[in-house]
Amino acid sequence: MGEWSDYFEDFPEEAPQPPSAEERAKEKFDSDIKDMNADAFALIAKTKKKVIDAAQLQKKQFFESIDYCPQCGEKKLNVYKLENKTYLCECQDCGIYGAGDNFSTALHKTASAIGDNIDWRDGSLFSVNTK
Ligand SMILES: [Zn+2]
Repeated sequence: MGEWSDYFEDFPEEAPQPPSAEERAKEKFDSDIKDMNADAFALIAKTKKKVIDAAQLQKKQFFESIDYCPQCGEKKLNVYKLENKTYLCECQDCGIYGAGDNFSTALHKTASAIGDNIDWRDGSLFSVNTK
């Protein structure tokens, strides 16, 4: 077995090369893009949180009770009775949700969504204008 340097003398094209200017530029570009994406995602997350926070505030007035979540088992299933008398269940932990004409229908609807990976934070059924 010879030294690595001997090997690379025989096969110079396989020797490690310092990155070319082009590669360095591409690397920088990639990392800039990554930073920009991170900024954009952070902004989206922030905006989303704002929307959720605002909705959570609006929901407060419709808050009815808290129950055990059929999916995660935590006592974090918020139950809301909305303006139109619809019941809405939303787990504050795992995010599962469901709505119905009464509490038991809403709970049943929520339970039947187990495994669907739904999250009310991604698209709540809640709306103040549900008439
Ligand atoms: Zn849950």
